[in-house]
Amino acid sequence: MAKITKRGDDYSQWYIDVVMRAEMADYAPVRGCMVIRPWGYAIWERMQRALDDMFKATGHQNAYFPLLIPKSFLEKEAEHVEGFAPECAVVTHGGDKLLDEPLVIRPTSETIIWAMYKKWIQSWRDLPLLYNQWCNIVRWEMRTRLFLRTAEFLWQEGHTAHATAQEATEEAERMLGVYRTFTEQWMAMPVLAGRKSDSQKFAGAVTTYTIEALMQDGRALQAGTSHYLGQNFAKAFDVRFQNKEGALEYVYASSWGVSTRLVGALVMSHSDDAGLVLPPRLAPIQVVIVPILKADADNAAIRTAAARLAEPFGCAQDKPFGDAVRVHVDDRDNVSPGWKFNEWELKGVPIRVELGPKDLAAGRVVLVRRDTGEKTPFPQGELALRVPEILDEMQSALYERAKKRLEENCRTVETYDDFKRRVAEVGGFLFAPWCGRPECEARVTEETKATIRLLPDDAQEGSACMVCGKGPAKRVPFARAY
Ligand SMILES: [Zn+2]
Repeated sequence: MAKITKRGDDYSQWYIDVVMRAEMADYAPVRGCMVIRPWGYAIWERMQRALDDMFKATGHQNAYFPLLIPKSFLEKEAEHVEGFAPECAVVTHGGDKLLDEPLVIRPTSETIIWAMYKKWIQSWRDLPLLYNQWCNIVRWEMRTRLFLRTAEFLWQEGHTAHATAQEATEEAERMLGVYRTFTEQWMAMPVLAGRKSDSQKFAGAVTTYTIEALMQDGRALQAGTSHYLGQNFAKAFDVRFQNKEGALEYVYASSWGVSTRLVGALVMSHSDDAGLVLPPRLAPIQVVIVPILKADADNAAIRTAAARLAEPFGCAQDKPFGDAVRVHVDDRDNVSPGWKFNEWELKGVPIRVELGPKDLAAGRVVLVRRDTGEKTPFPQGELALRVPEILDEMQSALYERAKKRLEENCRTVETYDDFKRRVAEVGGFLFAPWCGRPECEARVTEETKATIRLLPDDAQEGSACMVCGKGPAKRVPFARAY
């Protein structure tokens, strides 16, 4: 089997090797598109389920809007069309007939959703509308990277309508909080949270909120965004409601989304030179039991023992996505035990349980942790009891490790020279004083490829702007990002 490129040698190639070798995804015949294979999709399904439960717990309902949007809809909101037109795929023909109006494949669905909200919203009694949809979208990308940047990707987009600016703002903030809970508690991925600067905000938003994670190579990754849209889309689509006083008012909006890019972030956060490392809560299989079968021997006893080991977890092999611990018994006899160990390591299964003839005789198993590689002999009888605890420990350990890395890579920088050197040499989040002027922000991005990742709510006062030397300045985190 070909080896995985080491992280230290070539981080980009390492990432591609892990995704391909773990059979998470493959390149599609169409440039910019990817095929998500079952292992990658199973991880996405677990993410979806967790997020969907949180959306519903905060009062949202799922709906579905069409893939195709009349081109004129996109043109109704000036900033929105300017932001999205360059990356739209456009359908011009139906069959062999030229369409009267070209149709855009959704790059995001604000426009078609607000065209419908016009029909459904008349009075304050119709508000709020708290809708979400799970779907695919297309943004024409030429420079692509599996999961992180592809022309077509899967995501969810929440679109809510409110009677007041305050409610819509609270909604955008609440959903950023949901994303943060998800990335920290499920993905074991700590994040920084804040607002985007004007140059980085969503096209058509008043305020964009973001969570930003740090990958192992010191680059940032935007993991989720939510937007307060003000009345921009309500005005573009003439969506007004009668308020309690009987007057007509434009509706306030929020939208928010996360995508399959989170799968890429997960890979980059925890994995190592042996392949994928998955936090237990998102692992499609949490425990793999590998009976050590011998060629030309009677393996019946060991097969039976392996199957029996799986029973107390309450999750048979045919139900790998049940609510109990997700256990799989790998009793294939066409590949060697060593081959299986390697494969499950590549796929990031948190715990491997090895059962050989000697173990069987001694009433024990060997338990191997994917995150540390630690091998421990274990009494068979204690396995079912201890495994859930070990999975919890691993979930916390991965989070703590990532948190430590994030903290170690948040640095303050005073001068632009120092900034340039650190961006190139160490990366991470560089908290540097910025005066707030777009010219200074643009110059940094042009000269160093680093962008302001967010404006922290509690930004410290800096000395003077590192670019122009003027004050007052605030410390904001810059980083190169995926
Ligand atoms: Zn400045």
